[in-house]
Amino acid sequence: DYCLYQDQLVPREQLKIDPEDRGYHFGDGIYEVVHVYHGKAFALSDHLTRFKESAEKLDLPMLYSTDKLGELVQQLIEKNKLEHGMVYFQMTRGISPRNHLYTRNETPVLTGFSKPLPDEKRESVRLYLTDDIRWLRCDIKTINLLGNVLAKREATDHQCDEALLHRDGTVTEGSSSNVFLIKNETLYTHPATNLILNGITRQITIRLAKAKGYTVVEEPFPKEVIKDADEAFITSTIHEITPVTEVIGDETAHFPVGPVTKMLQQAFAEEIAKHSQT
Ligand code: PMP
Repeated sequence: DYCLYQDQLVPREQLKIDPEDRGYHFGDGIYEVVHVYHGKAFALSDHLTRFKESAEKLDLPMLYSTDKLGELVQQLIEKNKLEHGMVYFQMTRGISPRNHLYTRNETPVLTGFSKPLPDEKRESVRLYLTDDIRWLRCDIKTINLLGNVLAKREATDHQCDEALLHRDGTVTEGSSSNVFLIKNETLYTHPATNLILNGITRQITIRLAKAKGYTVVEEPFPKEVIKDADEAFITSTIHEITPVTEVIGDETAHFPVGPVTKMLQQAFAEEIAKHSQT
């Protein structure tokens, strides 16, 4: 398999990572994950735009233009003959002797890899509702993910698939997904503020739901309303739209895999089919 290093495709065993990369010292970097269907990266331009925005928010220079980055991602897919899978790429602030202070003279380090994914996907998930202990810039897709990592472990230790986070009782998002509740055919999800990552799948889902005539309310809601919802689902690049059947932890709820969720899953599948044809 080949990996991406700066603008080169290199065999994985030849890739060298420097121990003085600021990614290692401080988690000082950003990343994206894209889903590859039929040998083509889905919603690539949305991911590249978010990558650029993350860079700007962290005062990180873009090593390459978004167009160039997109070409490198597509080259990696072709070199690895990837049909269905994912591409991960990250850019750290670069290599320098360990010091909290960055100088703006560092050259960022871009690395990336691809991985096949199974065709069958998870039918539903159980969520573990717990405290959101993350920092106040969750809108930035940084490689510094300790709050997310600890929450995922906690969820798994409670036999759940994903953590659902609440900040002082307000539901934010999953540890690696966004969350939607449905009540009386209206969708509810946290607004795209500094407290969540504005998922690409979240944005596509909102657009599809509105096109189907559903109302989408992007407002914060308290954890107590979870149990009153008719349906719930999570969204992410890897898991697309996945129904939630159960929530445990700080609240308890059960949901059927309902008609609105199914309708949106169908609409999402059509988006993927459209993308694959062009
Ligand atoms: N929130 C968090 C914290 C995430 O890590 C992710 C996935 N990377 C998402 C939401 C979903 O975002 P996307 O749909 O762009 O994958």
